[in-house]
Amino acid sequence: MAEVFGKRKNRSGDKMLKTKDILDEKDKRLRKISKEVTFPMDQKDLDNIQLMEEYLYNSQIEELAEKYDLRPGMGMAAIQIGVDKRYIVIVHEVEDGFDSYVVINPKMVSHSEEMIYVESGEGCLSVNRECEGIVPRYARCTIEGYDTEGNKIKIRAREELAIAFQHEIDHLNGILFVDKIDPKNPYKNMDEYRAI
Ligand code: ZN
Repeated sequence: MAEVFGKRKNRSGDKMLKTKDILDEKDKRLRKISKEVTFPMDQKDLDNIQLMEEYLYNSQIEELAEKYDLRPGMGMAAIQIGVDKRYIVIVHEVEDGFDSYVVINPKMVSHSEEMIYVESGEGCLSVNRECEGIVPRYARCTIEGYDTEGNKIKIRAREELAIAFQHEIDHLNGILFVDKIDPKNPYKNMDEYRAI
């Protein structure tokens, strides 16, 4: 894994995103509806994407997460660093490294009927506390959007990756995963969904 990272351009010092740069759930900006991105993209947004991607890689590599004091996460929406524009980055660990997804103006265009949830609980870089309860998500979904150059892209996601896309798109609409848990009955209807 470290080797995968080693091939990437590294940054140093204050150019890196740090855990403190990520908005906490109490921050009202997380409730904004993010705006559609127009092309060509601003350089600032392209830089943000690189920083987000790098954070997500580093945070999932134990030694780097420790070195830079990063909370581990696999996905981030721009609004989590205070930018109310519709773009998301997901860095998904697979057998031989990481798959990285950068999607501008993402939309879920179809999904399975089957629903799943993360048994150990969904996580979010903006939610710094233990949250009991299940968050039902579609087991499979198709996402359409654009790459950073404005080319149309389509991604079919399943299981954990499908959850990540739904979670990040929710952020663009001001929704946090904790909103989807009924505090009075956090395990409501859990038998209807499959645990992963
Ligand atoms: Zn999140």
